[in-house]
Amino acid sequence: MPLRFSPCGNRRSAELLSIRGTEVNYLFICPTKLWFFTHGITMEQESEWVDLGKFLHEQRYENEEKEVLVGSIKIDFIRKGDIVEVHEVKLGKSMEKAHEMQALYYLYYLKKLGIKAKAILHYPKLNETKEITLEGHEEEIKEAIREVEKTKPLPTPPKPVKQRSAKKCAYYELCWI
Ligand code: SF4
Repeated sequence: MPLRFSPCGNRRSAELLSIRGTEVNYLFICPTKLWFFTHGITMEQESEWVDLGKFLHEQRYENEEKEVLVGSIKIDFIRKGDIVEVHEVKLGKSMEKAHEMQALYYLYYLKKLGIKAKAILHYPKLNETKEITLEGHEEEIKEAIREVEKTKPLPTPPKPVKQRSAKKCAYYELCWI
């Protein structure tokens, strides 16, 4: 039976948070990537890594109601119990900080709606999960939101900085060829 997700808190405060979880994630991978993405330059469909992530997502979690939309955020899946659980499925841990900040943003967003939640990151290829809670991280996520809001309206993308993950990035050719 599909889960019904009915936030009962203050919607207006969440409307102030118009940024998407992916944007917070990309800030911590690379601000240049964030800028390309938010300017409509989407090449992710060309990336075999994204395809693999989608494959895992479908195979392992086929019984979950996936991609739950709450305002501007799209959560991989949600389970409701004593406390709402936000679940995010990731391919590998090389971008773990970005995954954690995306999860924290979801928890912060839900808190603004009056919903107390915790997040679970899933790494199915590694058979690992990681629990994330908002306690002690609110200032960090507020700072990240400010950074996303500062980066998006820049007239040109932030200068690319070469990093180990660059060759797996869908924007590699834009930055380096
Ligand atoms: S190729 Fe590197 S610098 Fe360019 S967007 Fe991707 S991660 Fe950022």
